[in-house]
Amino acid sequence: MNTEKLGIALVGLGSYSEGQLAPALQETKHCRLTGIVTGNEEKAQKWKRKYNLADKNIYNYENFDSIKNNAEIDIVYVVLPNAMHAEYVMRAARAGKHVICEKPMAVTVKQCEEMIDACRMAGTQLSIGYRLHFEPHNLAIMDQQKNHTMGKLKKITAEHGIKVPEGVWRIDKKLAGGGPLMDVGIYCVQAAIYTAGEEPVAVTATEKEKTDAKKFNEVEEALTWKMEFASGAITECKTSYSETQNLLRAEFENGWMQLKPAFPYSGIKADTNNGKIKLTEINQQAFQMDDFAVCVKNNKKSKLPGEMGLRDVQIMLAIYEAMNSGKRVEI
Ligand code: NAD
Repeated sequence: MNTEKLGIALVGLGSYSEGQLAPALQETKHCRLTGIVTGNEEKAQKWKRKYNLADKNIYNYENFDSIKNNAEIDIVYVVLPNAMHAEYVMRAARAGKHVICEKPMAVTVKQCEEMIDACRMAGTQLSIGYRLHFEPHNLAIMDQQKNHTMGKLKKITAEHGIKVPEGVWRIDKKLAGGGPLMDVGIYCVQAAIYTAGEEPVAVTATEKEKTDAKKFNEVEEALTWKMEFASGAITECKTSYSETQNLLRAEFENGWMQLKPAFPYSGIKADTNNGKIKLTEINQQAFQMDDFAVCVKNNKKSKLPGEMGLRDVQIMLAIYEAMNSGKRVEI
């Protein structure tokens, strides 16, 4: 295999880029941080010093398209507020770069389709930042269903909630596309599908009454929803911006498995009816980015392609439709 490390440029140097992705890129074997795209000159200088970046690899949002001529950047990783993903993924594709896009892929189905088309036309790869597909405890729950170790799946419970402060883009519908469902509820949608090994056929949803209608005047504060699967398995999910929740539980005919917490960057714990499972932690982001770099090197499609991001956006929009109409929505 080509042992040369591919160059990655991070677009948007917020908390996820700074706290997780850039440190993970110090551990990756197949890619490395070579560039940044930021609107903040002070941040650019700080990152340049910290990560020893070349001046020619530092871009702002205006001159970003000239990244096309930069051979030191193979992959562009879009880590901006949700509603900005589509524009930057498409600009990266037009510049001939492979792209990783953070979750949720975008805020409309049309945007997702255009992003997939842009990468297809450019002949570049597109992957979504679903880091838990590399996490050993989450992989163990996926395996239960694949290997039928505990018999038929009956029920999944998935919950993910965080507390958000006032004034952040996450509660601005224009930038976020929605509330906690788009941001952290997406983990429940993902987890239900990889635990069940199938996609939901219908959803019902109920918005929880707001405790702070002023803060959450544009988006839901919390909601619960159910997803039905063709196999008969059901999923009960919760998400919130005012309560901390972090759980994935699967009940099978002959036992159960539970991850609590299920979705953080570290500290995931697994329990079953037969006792705890101890697995070695990995750096999820490093594995995720290395996997994509290997896909690019081998011209192999990512296991987390744009089509998966599109599917999840379709499901979340169906959940919003069910929440707003009070009706069961088929997918
Ligand atoms: P953040 O608010 O910390 O950072 C957002 C960045 O975008 C900032 O650098 C900000 O300056 C920049 N930006 C550019 N234009 C902006 C605008 N008009 N309004 C607001 N910010 C603007 O957010 P974050 O937590 O880093 O999230 C960024 C993306 O990463 C989101 O899509 C989020 O869903 C995703 N994310 C994924 C994970 C994961 O585990 N996969 C974790 C956290 C965030």
